[in-house]
Amino acid sequence: HAMEAMNKNEFSLFLQPKICLQDGSLSGAEALVRWIQLDGNIIYPNSFIPLFEANGFCTHLDMYMFERVCKQLRAWIDAGYDPIPISINQSKRTFYEKDYEGRLCECLDKYQIPASLITLEILESFVFEKVDEMNLRLDKLREIGFHISLDDFGTGYSSLNTFGRLKIDELKMDRGFLLEAKENIGHTRLILEEIVELSKKLQISTVIEGVETSEQEQFVKEIGCDIAQGYLYSKPVDAEYFTEHILLQEKQEKHG
Ligand code: C2E
Ligand code: CA
Ligand code: CA
Repeated sequence: HAMEAMNKNEFSLFLQPKICLQDGSLSGAEALVRWIQLDGNIIYPNSFIPLFEANGFCTHLDMYMFERVCKQLRAWIDAGYDPIPISINQSKRTFYEKDYEGRLCECLDKYQIPASLITLEILESFVFEKVDEMNLRLDKLREIGFHISLDDFGTGYSSLNTFGRLKIDELKMDRGFLLEAKENIGHTRLILEEIVELSKKLQISTVIEGVETSEQEQFVKEIGCDIAQGYLYSKPVDAEYFTEHILLQEKQEKHG
């Protein structure tokens, strides 16, 4: 039934902008799936991703989204627009799929997209083996040119120790930090500052998720965070709308 929905093109690519906090410029986008049924009803990923992870369909969906992203980047390049990097969520099953790298490369080849335009978002829970073995996998992906981002940092069992040893390019701090900061500014602020400082030393860029107000933006700027994502800038929007109203808008501001 999910496969049927996929064949009917019911899974759509939505994009949410990532904003550089230093100058407010557009630094990239995150791909987020939306299941839009024929009657127009929208189903959000939290209500189907866990199910797909359990039944294995997430692997099809992740590969499908990867291809949709490659197609989008190709369309931007063909239209003469400066492409921005796109981040794609990967599920654990996909990441450990046989010939994972090979399948990604095949798709890049098909659309002639450099891997450097794609960031793969992984979770700390993927590291069930030793960190060293995980790093071998990450090395392989980074050699191809992909960027690696550690998503949802600050939830579950995140540990600074694992983070410090993983070979990643970007750290995404969960919006939970912002909610905590609201209640207990001093403590959360200190922790965030430490994480950002450690990241800088490790040459890892920091992204904060869930920025909804300008007060929160001010706060994360002060802390030294590099990139922000959240409703303050835009909700995730469909790829067409994103191209017209966010990507092209940015282009006009830069050149005009
Ligand atoms: P995530 O990767 O942590 O994605 C960020 C979620 O936060 C998105 O929810 C986004 O819409 C939401 N968000 C962004 N800004 C704000 C904000 O300012 N305030 C609040 N309250 N929320 C904000 P979404 O799109 O519903 O996705 C939920 C989760 O589903 C994602 O969390 C990700 O784990 C998963 N997911 C989404 N698309 C895919 C996909 O294509 N493949 C896989 N494997 N997982 C996906
Ligand atoms: Ca994500
Ligand atoms: Ca996240």
